[in-house]
Amino acid sequence: MKKATKLLAMTLAMVMAACTLTACGGGSAKGDTLTFGTNPEFPPFEYVTSNGVIGEFDGIDMAIAKQIADENGMTVAMESMEFDSLLVALQNGQIDAVIAGMTATDERRETVDFSTPYYTATQVMIVKEDSDIATAADMADKKICVIQGYTGEVCVQDMGYSYEAFKKGTEAVMELANGKCDVVVIDSATAQKYVSDNEGLKIVEDPSAFESEEYAIAVQKGNTELLDKINKSIEKMLADGTINELAVKYTEEATAE
Ligand code: GLN
Repeated sequence: MKKATKLLAMTLAMVMAACTLTACGGGSAKGDTLTFGTNPEFPPFEYVTSNGVIGEFDGIDMAIAKQIADENGMTVAMESMEFDSLLVALQNGQIDAVIAGMTATDERRETVDFSTPYYTATQVMIVKEDSDIATAADMADKKICVIQGYTGEVCVQDMGYSYEAFKKGTEAVMELANGKCDVVVIDSATAQKYVSDNEGLKIVEDPSAFESEEYAIAVQKGNTELLDKINKSIEKMLADGTINELAVKYTEEATAE
């Protein structure tokens, strides 16, 4: 009996020491998992690889997500789904947050809350090298490809042009490479990756037609507890240059060769 009490006391002391070491004694973060949703079809922000920063997932967003979880003593988990399903999954509580190169738009703000923005992008046009498309207005009589649910689709819609929507950026770019469409409208950094992966393509910019967009992390409306944690981490990563370094690193990797 005496021996058992001693053992219990020792075990308790060890558990307490372990808690101090891992800071698991501190509040609600204890042992928590922070589950993000993403659509890993958007290099250099998220893509699937054999050895990613979060399991099979790698990219700028994945490194950011991991650091947010780490800094808050949480374990990071990543769920992969279609871009269109992300905000629904967030509202259902299937995931805690969305990190997917997602532009914080007013329309999306109606259903979710967004973090401090961490990256500025713009829509660009990918065309064949010999294309005569020089401005967004030149798309008027061309066959336009977009990706379903992306802000690029909304832009083309707002311009009043007809288009074909694809599920994945790679599919739209394949269509362009095969000469079945004339232009793909997509986010700048991802466009760069596709142009470096496929010969004979180039990027055409038209800043007067496409406004700049800010990527942010989405949480459920009113989840200020999580949003505060995310914002603190993002602001720190912006201030100390982490996000900049990640952007340079993953953009270089993506466009290498
Ligand atoms: N930034 C674009 C949007 O928010 C595309 C994002 C993405 O495909 N991951 O719609």
